[in-house]
Order: sequence, then structure tokens, then C-alpha cells
Amino acid sequence: MQILVLNAGSSSQKCALFDLTEPLPEAASAPLWRAAIDWTNPDGAQLSVKGGDGESTSTPLQVGSHLEALEHLLAQLWQGEHRIIDSPEAIAAVGHRVVHGGPHYREATVIDGQVKRTIEAMAAFAPVHNPAALEGIRAVEQLLGPVPQVALFDTAFHRDLPDRAAVYPGPYEWLDADIRRYGFHGISYAYCTERAARFLERELSSLRLIVCHLGNGCSAAAIARGKSVDTTMGFTPLEGLMMGSRSGSVDPSILIYLLRQMTQQGQPPEKIADYLDDTLNKASGLKGISGLTSDMRQITAALNTGNARAGLAFDIYIHRLVSAIAALRTSLDGLDALVFTAGVGENSAEVRAHTCERLAFLGLQLDGAKNQAPGGSERDIATPDSAVRILVIPTQEDWAIARECYRLLSASAADKRQR
Ligand code: ADP
Repeated sequence: MQILVLNAGSSSQKCALFDLTEPLPEAASAPLWRAAIDWTNPDGAQLSVKGGDGESTSTPLQVGSHLEALEHLLAQLWQGEHRIIDSPEAIAAVGHRVVHGGPHYREATVIDGQVKRTIEAMAAFAPVHNPAALEGIRAVEQLLGPVPQVALFDTAFHRDLPDRAAVYPGPYEWLDADIRRYGFHGISYAYCTERAARFLERELSSLRLIVCHLGNGCSAAAIARGKSVDTTMGFTPLEGLMMGSRSGSVDPSILIYLLRQMTQQGQPPEKIADYLDDTLNKASGLKGISGLTSDMRQITAALNTGNARAGLAFDIYIHRLVSAIAALRTSLDGLDALVFTAGVGENSAEVRAHTCERLAFLGLQLDGAKNQAPGGSERDIATPDSAVRILVIPTQEDWAIARECYRLLSASAADKRQR
């Protein structure tokens, strides 16, 4: 079954085609084809396509709208230089990563009018990501017609957070208005949890993990017996750890102070809201403090040449990460493994080393040589006598989406056959 996965981010739209057949492989398989649109290119949107032959091309897109760009991207599957299928009919289903499912969705869900309305309603909570996912759903409807589409929600993995972790200590009415901790990166957490259990040859029902998803967006979660029991992101993906260009948690009074200051200066309210939103999401974090970049590779390169602001950015990043892991540990009755995943977690030996060194009091002992050794596969980088395992697990969100899509559609086909 050929399944297309659309992953709409704040700055890019990624797309991958997978071929899944029974029995499903335990580990992720590589996609047959990949494409992405980078919306951040200053000269206009840029489309890159990587075909089955491993060759890739990158071209600027001359289009009037995001929808047009998406339709162009999808058509590359059967028309472009790297086409991989004969016609759109070859695609059996499309899976979408949807960042915010609100309190409504707990499982992978076939997209219908009601699901689309909910994704739209939840755009108030995820103003960049949810509209981007809807654009993808509409582009597929226009180009691929009635193919089944499935949504996987980044919030779903955290659906059973205990109230003490999920409810903000504001007025109780906030909860009635759905203002609560939702948590994000759930597709990645679910995948890493399952892989950690297999790697450690442990039953999920007894496993206690802290998983750190450190990419452009960063969060960590305490996971007990396969369920999220606390996590650092909250009502939106802005809370918690310091990130590439997002601040993570800051004292909310800073915003009230800035709001009052800008109001006194005569700024219109919508400008103030946009300014605060942009500042916290795009001009903070590693980028805001270093003044250089949101990319951890460049931060570590700069600090190694003595750049003081890059050094400060790195120190805050580690300080906040270590504090969060120690706090998450209090939600577990023990810790079997600390897991690092996503761009920084998988690749930055410096971040892992500084984090684990500060967490020695939790029983973590990093093996320096294993930590430094290059490798893109799942690995244990703790010393043999470390009380807690330290794992690096490359996350495979797109594959996880394709697999859930396959399972959901196979189950509903089997259900129909039985009736
Ligand atoms: P996203 O959150 O957009 O999915 P990724 O998980 O791909 O992001 O992570 C992207 C980030 O990973 C980059 O911004 C960069 O900071 C970091 N990264 C990638 N490779 C390395 C590396 N070798 N060393 C340190 N950081 C890296």
C-alpha cells in the first residue's frame, strides 16, 4: 500500500511516500520518495525533491499561493523529473501530521468535515501549524480526489496527562475554556517509546523513560508504562525548554510589562500581539541570545571560537534542559532510560555530554567514547554500570504516521469485510 505523508511545519511543508506491506517491519523503512517546500527562502518558496534513485533537485517555485505550491509539489509524484508513480490513483491513503487536536482527538482519525472543522477551530491555539495542515488536506482533495486522509495529532500521546500536570494554576474557568497543557511532539514520543522498549528488550508496562525531543522545537516528556505523565510543552508548543528560535517558558509578567510599555507608546493592540508572538517564537531562544543563529551546529562552532553570546546561549539551553529533566524525574517512580532524539538530540554529542554530566546525581553515567562515536542508528551511550541507560533513538515521525495510517485503514477494511 502506497501511503503519502504530509508534515506541515512552520517554515516548511515536507512530504514522503512510503510503500507498506504485511508484515510491517519492526524498524522504520526509508521512504521511496521525498519532497519539501521551504517557505523561508528570501527569494521565494523553494521546492526540493529526492527521488527513488537517490538523486535530488532543488528549484524555485513561481506560484501565487501556498495551495498552488502544494499542488505543484504533489504533481511531482507522477509528473516531475523524479516521478515515482504512474498516476495519482496509485496512492492508497494520505497521512497528515496535525499539531493541535485540542481535547477532542486521542487517536489517528480519518479526516471528514467534522475533523476539518476541529482542526480549523484549534488553529486559534496553533495559528501557524493547523492552517498549514488544512492547506495540505485541501491540496490533496483537489489533486487526488476521494483518497482516504488520516490525521495524527501531536497532542494525542499526552491525552492521559494527570490533572495535576495538565491544569494550569490560573482561575478554574481556564480549564472550562480548554486552556490547559496539551503537550506536543507526541508522534515522536510514541515512536521513541516503542523503540526504546524493543531496544532494551523490556515490556512497555514496566518501562519508565524521559525522552528529550530536541529539534528546532524542543520538549521533554516523562513516560511511565507507555503513557505521558508530564511534559514541558503546554497549551502551545512555546512553553518549556529553550529552543532554536522560541523562548520556552518566561515569566508571563515580562509580556504584561512589554504590553503596557507599547500601549503607552501608542502602538495598536494587534501590532503589540504580533510583535510579542514574533519575538517569542522567532527571535528568541538560541537565535535571540546568540544574535547569530538558531542552529545548534553553528552555536557550538561559535562558542568553540570564544563567542561569548553563543556560549551564554548554550549554557542557558543546557541549564533549562537539565532542570526540566530533573523536574520530570519527580513524576516517575524510577528511571530506566533517558532518550535523546531529533536533530540536536541525535547529533550533538556536546549537548548530550553536558546534560548527562549535570545529571550524574540521577544515576546517569555517559560513556564518552560511545557518545562521540558517529552513527545514525539506535544506540546505548551509557557506561555498562550506569544505573540509568542513555539512548539515542533517531525519530521517524513520517514513517510512524504512514504506519498508523496503514493500521487504521487495514483495520477498517477488515471490519467492513466482517460485517
Ligand atoms: P525540526 O524540529 O524542524 O523537525 P530537526 O529535528 O530536523 O528539526 O532538528 C533541526 C536542528 O537539529 C537544527 O536546527 C540543528 O540545530 C540541529 N542539528 C542537526 N544536525 C546537527 C549536528 N550535527 N549537531 C548539532 N545540531 C544539529
